[in-house]
Amino acid sequence: MSAVRAAVVGGSLGGLTAGLLLRDLGVEVDIFERSPVALEGLGAGIIVHEPTVRYFVERSSISLDDISLTSDRLQYLRPDGSVEHEEKSDYRFTAWSSLFRGLESLFDQGRYHRSHTLVGFDQDADGVDLRFAEGGERRFDLVVCADGVSSAARRRLFGVDAEYSGYVGWRGICGREELSGETWEVLDNTFTYALSGDEHVVAYPIPTVDRDVHVTDYRINFTWYRNVEAGPDYDELMTDRTGLRRSISVPAGSAQERQVARMRADAARLPPPIAELVGRAQDPFITAIVDADCPHLAGGRICLIGDAAVTARPHAAAGSAKAAADAWSLAEAFEGVGPDGVPEALRSWEGPALERGRALLERTRDMGRRLQGGKGDWKPADPGNRFGLETPRAPA
Ligand SMILES: Cc1cc2nc3c(=O)[nH]c(=O)nc-3n(C[C@H](O)[C@H](O)[C@H](O)COP(=O)(O)OP(=O)(O)OC[C@H]3O[C@@H](n4cnc5c(N)ncnc54)[C@H](O)[C@@H]3O)c2cc1C
Repeated sequence: MSAVRAAVVGGSLGGLTAGLLLRDLGVEVDIFERSPVALEGLGAGIIVHEPTVRYFVERSSISLDDISLTSDRLQYLRPDGSVEHEEKSDYRFTAWSSLFRGLESLFDQGRYHRSHTLVGFDQDADGVDLRFAEGGERRFDLVVCADGVSSAARRRLFGVDAEYSGYVGWRGICGREELSGETWEVLDNTFTYALSGDEHVVAYPIPTVDRDVHVTDYRINFTWYRNVEAGPDYDELMTDRTGLRRSISVPAGSAQERQVARMRADAARLPPPIAELVGRAQDPFITAIVDADCPHLAGGRICLIGDAAVTARPHAAAGSAKAAADAWSLAEAFEGVGPDGVPEALRSWEGPALERGRALLERTRDMGRRLQGGKGDWKPADPGNRFGLETPRAPA
């Protein structure tokens, strides 16, 4: 039986995990990433779940301590900064860039192709032809689209785009030297919530990982979820300082200074340690909180995984875990499969992956309504509010 030739479109967490797992099965895998440079600055903090790090644990010598930090507490702060609720917690924290660095170091660089932006494809019974904006056309037996929340493949196959939730996340990071000792102590080793009914902030430490994939330091990152109705104010916020209207994120250093100044002024009303963290972060950036439902994840020889498939809001902290779980189940479906068996393998993979994605989508929509809806119906001790992919996982 000849080997399956697969293209993975999108070389981030989902794409790299799928690429590694398919490669391990003997599939000939090429990853195509639109970015011309190594992905470095995408996002900030990630809470680790079992699927997120399963590849490292089962298939590499990279240990959890090489790419993530432990924690011992989860806390909710009152407006005056005192602790309203506290419990023991063993969540592990990492950074998007730390996971990326670890996964990328394990994939064959000769088969990771930067500056390849998928713009179109056609398929027939025997294969898929991919076309790239930078030129060139390639044919494959299998195409795995891991091209993220704004997936061109999802739109082309199923006509589905991500929808804005009605709130954005202002995000930023501070090192120890930027914060007072008092604030560092409150936020260190801890997942912190600050809630006010119609907005909330989360903050937790994230590691810095060097090129040899070892933790060298750590900082505190935050996301401040703020309601901004779709319309002129939202459009202005999402327009960067060069005048470009961004669709999903305004990267670090690109938000208009006026918007940053207003956000920092508003931060004064947050609990004091959070106000300090938010107010002192250099180059805060903005992520529009969106989600996307999709009726199918596979069509013929092409499939969608991760955020390109069903995109969930971040409140269960499980998006990259879902991307990894999609990749693991895909690899299981391809065990012993040759080029002719691709459509059937994708059909068998699709149902459970879709179910998992939709359950997470529904759960995170409900969490978003309760966190941002102004009704004050988010109870800190409710086990349903915990993070996790398939079921909320209570901290140990
Ligand atoms: C505020 C916030 C907090 C979060 N916190 C957590 C958390 O704690 N835990 C967690 O598990 N998840 C979290 N997530 C979700 C997580 O970041 C995403 O689910 C995860 O990054 C999705 O990975 P992905 O590989 O599917 O897509 P992405 O990381 O979006 O990667 C898509 C890739 O495709 C490339 N691409 C796009 N279009 C093309 C094209 N046409 N051709 C070629 N390449 C293309 C892009 O350049 C990019 O590299 C959070 C998300 C947000 C917004």
